[in-house]
Amino acid sequence: MRATCATIHLGALRENLRRVRELAPGARVMAVVKADGYGHGLERVARALEGADAFGVAGIADGQRLRAAGVSQRIVVLSGLDEPGDLAEMRRLRLDPVIHCDAQIDALAADLDPRPLRVWLKLDTGMHRLGFPPERARAAWARLRALPCVDRDITLMTHFANSDVFDDAQTTRQIEAFERGVAGLDGEHSLSNSAGILGWPEAQGQWVRAGGALYGISVVAGRIGADFGFRPAMTLSTRLVAINRIRKGESVGYAATWQCPEDMDVGVAAIGYGDGYPRQAGAGTPVLLNGRRAPLIGRVSMDLITLDLRGHPEAKIGDSVVLWGRGLPVEEIAEHAGTIGYDLTCGVTRRVRFVEDDGA
Ligand SMILES: *Cc1c(COP(=O)(O)O)cnc(C)c1O
Repeated sequence: MRATCATIHLGALRENLRRVRELAPGARVMAVVKADGYGHGLERVARALEGADAFGVAGIADGQRLRAAGVSQRIVVLSGLDEPGDLAEMRRLRLDPVIHCDAQIDALAADLDPRPLRVWLKLDTGMHRLGFPPERARAAWARLRALPCVDRDITLMTHFANSDVFDDAQTTRQIEAFERGVAGLDGEHSLSNSAGILGWPEAQGQWVRAGGALYGISVVAGRIGADFGFRPAMTLSTRLVAINRIRKGESVGYAATWQCPEDMDVGVAAIGYGDGYPRQAGAGTPVLLNGRRAPLIGRVSMDLITLDLRGHPEAKIGDSVVLWGRGLPVEEIAEHAGTIGYDLTCGVTRRVRFVEDDGA
């Protein structure tokens, strides 16, 4: 059996939720669990985060999975409705749609079911992806308020584009644009994602929407989750399956990108891009071999990577290799691969065995 394994630390998820509450004491917490809980497993994450006040998903299918798993909290579908049948399904499952465009209000207006849905009205304050421009928020809100099938409790929300840069003027402009757009409108406010929670305490409103922070991942350049008191919720690991003595001048791996500068031991570990380890990770990307760093050499292949064992004379077949997680921040590996930590945890593939660690 392949030793490749993603251990999900349920205690870290719980602890990270506690930390989010500590940082946003006046707000309720929507735990964002899109993309299968950022790759950690939707149902398992929801179970560990049962203390959250709501869950945020990207589409109805995830709402179906959460209700089937017994989740009773509010579930917010962050991109709202897009197909004609969506409304009936949202009502059946008590999912809250985010309403970001007129076509969605038209669909609600055409709906004859009188049972009210709770909706979140999204303003586009500068991200320029989804939402009403602030100057049109009042009209959208009034249209929704007038519909019998919409609950009177409408939450007003927006999303930041650059809140991970803590002194960036764009976020200040977004907060001001939001406040202008919602002035005088009834409803709770929700502005902040994880970086907003960390860097923009003035923007917490009544609801924060935490994703990455709950998984212990930072999006702030040069910082890791631990710098903000978060613990990694995933450790990706495997084992050493071969150790080979390779002669000076010989190359290692596809395209012969790495040459041995001396006679040396090369370790082979059972993980590759077929498991979601990034192919872009170049020579020098660290792994933890028996808890100590060893550098990757050569190209990442589909099932295997190769390691420079010159600093590990004690290494033997079967030894543990950690790719990221406890002891090796995923943010650091992401940096080597030219991406962000979220991309790596979301990308772990189905052939990897997932194991739950229920310890602290
Ligand atoms: C993904 C998402 C979040 C969570 O973002 P993080 O940076 O992971 O905390 C919050 N709000 C919306 C609308 C999102 O799409």
